[in-house]
Amino acid sequence: TETVAPAVAETIERTLILVKPDGVRRGLSGEVLRRVEAKGYTLVAVDLRDASPEVLAAHYAEHEGKPFYQPLVDFMLSGKILAVVAEGQGVIPGFRSLAGATDPTAAAPGTIRGDLGRDWGLKVQQNLVHGSDSPESAAREIGLWFPSL
Ligand code: GDP
Ligand code: MG
Repeated sequence: TETVAPAVAETIERTLILVKPDGVRRGLSGEVLRRVEAKGYTLVAVDLRDASPEVLAAHYAEHEGKPFYQPLVDFMLSGKILAVVAEGQGVIPGFRSLAGATDPTAAAPGTIRGDLGRDWGLKVQQNLVHGSDSPESAAREIGLWFPSL
């Protein structure tokens, strides 16, 4: 007989979530964690910290040279960040879906950015959260923010 591995086992994955300084300042860290847990994802690590310029440079290397790069890095250095690793079936696309579109003005109602994010014509979109966008990004970013995991 044919042996088929359970599909679910193959899609259990981990993602890196950041509650950015706007979210921490506005007291929305718990609201973000609530939505992640309510969706059924498991928290693996949660740590409130100041980001270092070195970690941010590596984290946002793909955006170096873009007009919003320096404002973005300065914004990410402007206050505490809640760094989170969450686990679950399809959590990488699943959290991106919970977060909503990058631009908070365009993000759909029901999403974190759509319900709570702000874009006041600032130099950087204050869109509350980061979520890894692929398995490769997740592995790289978890290694960067949580080297012990
Ligand atoms: P994400 O994966 O949805 O977070 O979006 P990106 O990886 O493309 O961009 C990283 C972050 O840079 C976003 O979350 C925003 O905070 C900021 N950002 C991206 N694109 C723009 C832009 O066109 N204008 C401004 N002001 N900020 C941007
Ligand atoms: Mg991104």
